[in-house]
Amino acid sequence: MEHSCKCTQKIVALDVESVLADIHSAWITQYKKKFTIKDITDWDFISLKRWNETLKTFLEETDNLWEKFPEKIPPTVPNLKEVTRHLKPFDIVTSRRTLGGIIKWVEYHQLEYRAIVYVPDNKADLDYCMYIDDNPKLATKLKDNQFLWLISQPYNLQVHESSQIQRVNSIIETVSQ
Ligand SMILES: [Mg+2]
Repeated sequence: MEHSCKCTQKIVALDVESVLADIHSAWITQYKKKFTIKDITDWDFISLKRWNETLKTFLEETDNLWEKFPEKIPPTVPNLKEVTRHLKPFDIVTSRRTLGGIIKWVEYHQLEYRAIVYVPDNKADLDYCMYIDDNPKLATKLKDNQFLWLISQPYNLQVHESSQIQRVNSIIETVSQ
């Protein structure tokens, strides 16, 4: 968790999908998909074309999961409440519109967040000092004083580590460093 950060706002911006909630596993399991997460090798789901999947089908089907069955979306690690305690204070920052389901999910997992923030586009504009996220596009938008723990996924392997970006396998590694 320790690193040199020039920001005064010491609040961590925690992404939801792939950081807290294992949305890809839920999507693949609940909709009985024939591919695995390893087949998702780009952010826009073009790699899933041969299974007739698109970003749109992903968003529609996972919106449905968030709205109707948030309890079926597993956490990325079993002891999420304990792990996230080490990150306090943190905000949950998401680009998903299904905030009702997300709130139910984080309450169900008893996460001690400060606020839930919806941002439709660029999270770096929110001026957090530290982000934990899996989005490769955020890596290209960081301001000089921002730091990203990038949750490693098959669709973000092209992102290089730097003084502002460190790759981790799960949220657990962000609190143990
Ligand atoms: Mg995400």
